[in-house]
Amino acid sequence: MSNPDVIVVGGGIGGLSTAFALRRQGLAVRVLESAAEFGEVGAGLQIAPNCTRILHEYGLLDQVVKRGVAPADMIMFDAVDSSELTRLDLRDLERTYGFPYIVIHRSDLHGLFLDACRRTGVELLNDQQAVGYEQGTGSASVRLADGRVETAPLVIAADGLHSVARRQYVGDPTVSSSYVAYRGAVPIEQVRANQVDEDAVAVYVGPGCHFVQYPLRGGEMFNQVAVFESPKALAGVEGWGSPDELDAAFEGTCEQVQLGLPMLWRDRWWQMYDRDPIDQWVYGRVALLGDAAHPPLQYMAQGAIMAIEDGWVLASHVARNQTAGGVDWASVLAAYQAVRPEHCRRVVLTARVWGELWHLDGVRREQRNAILRSRDTHDYTFTDWVYGPTALFPEDEPEMYRAIPLAGAGQDGSTTHDSRSHPTPGHEKTPTPQPAG
Ligand SMILES: Cc1cc2nc3c(=O)[nH]c(=O)nc-3n(C[C@H](O)[C@H](O)[C@H](O)COP(=O)(O)OP(=O)(O)OC[C@H]3O[C@@H](n4cnc5c(N)ncnc54)[C@H](O)[C@@H]3O)c2cc1C
Repeated sequence: MSNPDVIVVGGGIGGLSTAFALRRQGLAVRVLESAAEFGEVGAGLQIAPNCTRILHEYGLLDQVVKRGVAPADMIMFDAVDSSELTRLDLRDLERTYGFPYIVIHRSDLHGLFLDACRRTGVELLNDQQAVGYEQGTGSASVRLADGRVETAPLVIAADGLHSVARRQYVGDPTVSSSYVAYRGAVPIEQVRANQVDEDAVAVYVGPGCHFVQYPLRGGEMFNQVAVFESPKALAGVEGWGSPDELDAAFEGTCEQVQLGLPMLWRDRWWQMYDRDPIDQWVYGRVALLGDAAHPPLQYMAQGAIMAIEDGWVLASHVARNQTAGGVDWASVLAAYQAVRPEHCRRVVLTARVWGELWHLDGVRREQRNAILRSRDTHDYTFTDWVYGPTALFPEDEPEMYRAIPLAGAGQDGSTTHDSRSHPTPGHEKTPTPQPAG
């Protein structure tokens, strides 16, 4: 391929899903990935109906369902006393939104997009490290570490949390949460003695920590994630989140959590960073996408989903703005810029608030528990704004839920509601039932 229509920098889930979406519109797409091979590190990924709806449109949902698991429930427990706080009935959720909630190994989802790209003729290149961007007339160029320059009418920067384009065009810092994640996926036989629920996503929320469990690969594997606040991070110590902090963080948690801890990988861990939301994602003919544009904390399990939605929105606007004369990129980019930053701003900020709520202690933990226990299992007020159809235009973006202030919760389970508002970090409210890993 000599002259691609689009260059995508980064071959993660965001880059590959976008490359595939644009290729489906007949565009010539080249993916430049810095790693020697395409792949994903880590274990499970939760994908909600706002993503499976898109996978269905792409013709990939059947394979995703086959390689993943569609659990019956998502259940949130208190990690200290193991009591149930709230649950989502995922069968009913599927009926409500029209598409299933799936858990899948992230390398399986990434592999499906990689296969789809190969099958449809996306050009996939490894060992291509982007180091900078330049604007042309009706085009942009990406400079590579070996000195070469690649040019296209559109360059998409899907290069993750530490995006080079984000550094060049925005220059904002990553924000440390001081929380760290340990993961581990093992054959199901290894955890059966622990009486785990093989048909649920289980989330145990505790003071300064939480623990997530769910099945993977048609139930053959079991995924567990432990997340905790690192005292070393708070003290400014390098290399924070090391295994010596892991067990101490979960002292005082219930037996179900204690039984899971030995199954985690201890040779690697993920320090958790996000970034403050930004309003501008499009710089001339360079567009930020995925974690490069909106890296979240993972508490809403929407990071990879938002990246997939970004690509779907871009491709949908290409479909609306393409003629025999070519793509009207100015209109496509204006439409992308108009709709995506606001949705992702809401998710990124809600994830921060949600994390605060999960990790409460003392009276505020009791207040949170009272609010969660009072929720009706089939009340979707808190999920409609995120699990419904992805908006293509700002006016289609659904309203958010009514926030519930913690102080309004009696420990008898009674709650009082305030007016419809957007969550703000630091304000302890808005318990939304979207347990995540
Ligand atoms: C513990 C944890 C649990 C999570 N759980 C969920 C979940 O359940 N559901 C969900 O939707 N999300 C979840 N997420 C978030 C999700 O993993 C990310 O948001 C998503 O993977 C981002 O995809 P991306 O393609 O934008 O970025 P990345 O996956 O970071 O991909 C970026 C790619 O760009 C390449 N690259 C980087 N720099 C360059 C360069 N200079 N030149 C060329 N290539 C480059 C990288 O090698 C990589 O392949 C979770 C995250 C964590 C940490």
